[in-house]
Parts: sequence; structure tokens; C-alpha cells
Amino acid sequence: MSYTGGCACGAVKLEIAGEPIGTRQCWCRQCQQIAAGGPTHNAIFKVEDVRVIGALAASHWTAASGNTLTFSFCPSCGAQVYAQSSARAHLKTVRLGVIDEPHGLRPEVVIWTEEAPAWAHIDPALESWPRQPPAPPAPAD
Ligand SMILES: [Zn+2]
Ligand SMILES: [Zn+2]
Repeated sequence: MSYTGGCACGAVKLEIAGEPIGTRQCWCRQCQQIAAGGPTHNAIFKVEDVRVIGALAASHWTAASGNTLTFSFCPSCGAQVYAQSSARAHLKTVRLGVIDEPHGLRPEVVIWTEEAPAWAHIDPALESWPRQPPAPPAPAD
């Protein structure tokens, strides 16, 4: 197993078998709303690599693209666990905060910078996109 994780109250546990195909910091408005005004930090895994133990609740939002975004969270503590887009059902966007430390992951790409507040500190060394970039490429295997 590559990573383990869990929500804030421990009702939901994660077992992740592979490495992420990408990591991102997202400043879109929806992320600011679920992340208390800051960006979300995410690692994108293949669906089959992520095992969830425990019951999740979900909310469904329609993105500007028309895709349906599903946000899965712990119904007991409310911690965001992962998101999935109807356009990329083979991927799970796992919130870095629910992966056990020390995981060594950090954002490689910053997205939706045009929606970031003026006070946001965005690392100029990272690849950045004003809006949604193309999906990460599939792994070579
Ligand atoms: Zn919980
Ligand atoms: Zn976002």
C-alpha cells in the first residue's frame, strides 16, 4: 500500500495502492467554499487504487463545464475526502488533508488562479493555469 488516510473523526479510512497521477492546488470558487476561503490541495488517483472503509455522504454540483462534480465527505465530521467529475469517472481527486502524514506529496500545479483572492500567495515556481487545465495524462502502464 502506498498511502493510508482518514477523516478527522476516524469514521472513514482510506487505503491507496498507487502513486498519484498528479497533484494540484485549486483556487476555484467551489474549492474556496469547501476549504474555508483558501484553496484545496488534491492528489489525483486512479479509482481502482483508492479503497474507502466506512460510509461517505455526497453532494452533487454542476460545474460551469456542465459536468457533474461529486464531493464525498464524512457524514460525521464533514471532512472532505475526495471529489469526482462525471467527465473523468476513472479518477478520484483525494484531498491531501485526509492522507496520513508523512506522505511527501505537495502541489505540482496551481489551477483556477483567476478566481483566487488578491491576498492569495501562489508559488511562482509552480506550473499555473488561470482556469481548468486538461486532465492529467494517463500513466504509461
Ligand atoms: Zn469523520
Ligand atoms: Zn477547485
